[in-house]
Amino acid sequence: MNKIGKQYKIKEIFYTLQGEGYHAGRPAIFVRFTGCNLWTGREEDRTSAVCQFCDTDFIGTDGQNGGVYSSTELVEVIKSLWPDDSQIFIVCTGGEPLLQLDQFLVDTFRKNKIYIAVETNGTKLAPKGIDWLCVSPKAGSELLLTKGQELKLVYPQKAQLPPTVAHLDFDHFYLQPMDGHWIKAHTHETVLYCLANPQWKISIQLHKILGID
Ligand code: SF4
Repeated sequence: MNKIGKQYKIKEIFYTLQGEGYHAGRPAIFVRFTGCNLWTGREEDRTSAVCQFCDTDFIGTDGQNGGVYSSTELVEVIKSLWPDDSQIFIVCTGGEPLLQLDQFLVDTFRKNKIYIAVETNGTKLAPKGIDWLCVSPKAGSELLLTKGQELKLVYPQKAQLPPTVAHLDFDHFYLQPMDGHWIKAHTHETVLYCLANPQWKISIQLHKILGID
């Protein structure tokens, strides 16, 4: 197969501050891949989806700088958004980026000296060469990625509580209060859990507080 001809469906690409987890506050280019394997993204399918609390629009390619790109074109867009000649930091997210992010694209990013962070639900194996792998396990799905730099669990998920993943091979463990109507109660519960279990740190969605994308 001619891998040079491979195309990637991208919902949006934008420059912002990372809002969550270990790299919170760090300028980053978000590359949002289209599609997820745990929800179609359509509201009418939410109650029957494996993952039901998603707050992201990952359907189609109609967002800012969205489109269908070759790896080279993708790198060009990314480079055009970075403000200086320091190392570019990208966050590959989704949807589920590992449905599309393959070895060829990772190798292309690395050839261009791009630092690659990935935020994944952990249900797909990852190509080699990712610099920062952040896995966010979802209740009811099979977790294949059990090793990485950061594990970020949305809390509370009744069927996926911290003890089910606390033994996995990650450098940092974050609990992120589940957003929505009960965010205040969830934040309080998260604080209490972290205080009682110091392996865990809290991840606040900083971008929502700052009012940025
Ligand atoms: S796995 Fe992630 S992208 Fe997919 S539906 Fe859940 S929160 Fe959204």
